[in-house]
Amino acid sequence: MANLQQRLPENVPGDFFVDSTCIDCDTCSQLAPGIFRDHGDQCSVYHQPETIDETKLAMMALVACPTGSIGATKKHDAHIGIDAFPLLLDENVYFCGFTSESSFGGWSYLITRPSGEGGNVLIDSPRFATQLVKRFRAMGGINTMLLTHKDDIADHELFRKEFGCVRVMHASDGATRLGFEQVVDGEQAIALDDDLIVIPTPGHTRGHVVFLYRNKFLFTGAHLAWSPRGKTLTAFRSVAWYSWAEQTRSMSKLLAYDFEWVLPGHGDMHRENVNIMREHLQRCISWMKTLD
Ligand code: SF4
Repeated sequence: MANLQQRLPENVPGDFFVDSTCIDCDTCSQLAPGIFRDHGDQCSVYHQPETIDETKLAMMALVACPTGSIGATKKHDAHIGIDAFPLLLDENVYFCGFTSESSFGGWSYLITRPSGEGGNVLIDSPRFATQLVKRFRAMGGINTMLLTHKDDIADHELFRKEFGCVRVMHASDGATRLGFEQVVDGEQAIALDDDLIVIPTPGHTRGHVVFLYRNKFLFTGAHLAWSPRGKTLTAFRSVAWYSWAEQTRSMSKLLAYDFEWVLPGHGDMHRENVNIMREHLQRCISWMKTLD
């Protein structure tokens, strides 16, 4: 729970606030950009909620925050935020909220499918929160857990124990050592089933992969995200732990695929027409090459 005594001075006066435990993951400013902003090394409230919808967004950010750094001085029904997750994005794809501190607030996603189509899929690990787990169970459990890279595996063991899901990750990020049930290897894209493709994208880490669902939803982990400031796709040079040159090469591989949604673990999500998305991707690759 956020501590009023540690309320950051950057918050505007009023009900909602961020305290000094904020790790600057930007979940709140991405989820509720009309209320929270990144003021430098941390986030704070720059506009107090005035409507029911704004209050709901602030409560969703409070629930999604990995460190419990968001608080309110007035009493609010916590279920306003809790029950909003998983949040439907499009078709049968959801954002899970409930981020985990151990993955630095990385975003995770849920695909719901009938068991005959392979069952539900969790992409990267949210926090193992009781309320979210109950919702997952009510929505059909988790059959498969896809991990984009080793930084965002958070509570994978607890989800495996709860749902018996098959965990999928690349060998170069330690999948074998971690005892994952399905280990991806090499650089070639592999079809996991009729709708899902895993595409190795070394760069952020050596074993980073992205997952493409129905040639529409691209789950990008720490590889690719939308830049609201640049109004185009971007990648994060400062956290290319393995190799920026490799990440640039990996990015070029994605030109061979169609997708409308970029759904990252870190950074902003974005939806665009397939052709325009490809133009953004090409622009991103050209920019990345300038930094080699
Ligand atoms: S979600 Fe929490 S930790 Fe992340 S930036 Fe906001 S207040 Fe900070």
